[in-house]
Amino acid sequence: MVYLTGAGPGALDLLTVKALRVIREADVIIYDRLANPEILAEAKDGCEFIYVGKADSHHTIPQEEINEIIYRSALKHDKVVRLKGGDPLVFGRGGEEALYLHERGVRFEFIPGVTSAIAVPEYAGIPVTHRGITVSFRVVTGHEAAKEKSQIPWENYKTDDTIVFLMGLHRLKHIVEKLLEIGKPRDFPIAVISKGTWPDEKTVIGTLEDIYERAKDLPTPALIVVGEVVKLHEQLSWFEKQS
Ligand code: SAH
Repeated sequence: MVYLTGAGPGALDLLTVKALRVIREADVIIYDRLANPEILAEAKDGCEFIYVGKADSHHTIPQEEINEIIYRSALKHDKVVRLKGGDPLVFGRGGEEALYLHERGVRFEFIPGVTSAIAVPEYAGIPVTHRGITVSFRVVTGHEAAKEKSQIPWENYKTDDTIVFLMGLHRLKHIVEKLLEIGKPRDFPIAVISKGTWPDEKTVIGTLEDIYERAKDLPTPALIVVGEVVKLHEQLSWFEKQS
């Protein structure tokens, strides 16, 4: 059995009870950089660890090879945990890994994780929806934004939806340009949250005009939130005030 497991956004206590259970029972854990390494201390004696170091958009090991590593581990062991940052199916390629296993007759389960797309803004005091401000939100890959033939339907983003860009810090300039192009005002609120839910979380609030200069040097992982909800940070920020 392969458990395609979400590790949550960073803080250890945002791991689900079910994820913790399979981690404790696992014979092998195949993990990424984004998963909190302290989680591995929960594994049983003799558990094998395989690091497939995927960080942001830099896939140090090709996906096909990762699929094969998971598959081979499943042939050898009873319980394989494939641990991924956040939720395994939010830009986590968990679907691809599951298809690979399915095609080869290997059983798998998805274990949802707390996704950074919602939890990181939440730790920064930014609700992705808020009555009277916005009734929906989108989660978009910023990685895609920089591609020449980007599939991002920018024209659809003229609405009041909150937009959360993952993997977008290195494309921040481009993302801002696109949002201005579709008619968002220069003073439109935008936030960059770096190392969300970690003790050194940092939120930078700005406008489309100034965010690039203010946030471009923040450490990764980082995500971008665009929308009027960003303004609530001023009153609702709670986590960063604790440290
Ligand atoms: N499956 C993951 C997302 C994978 S894409 C999830 O559900 O959270 C990786 C991107 O997630 C990073 O580039 C960054 O934009 C975002 N991210 C993950 N953890 C983060 C954190 N602790 N703080 C800020 N952004 C984070």
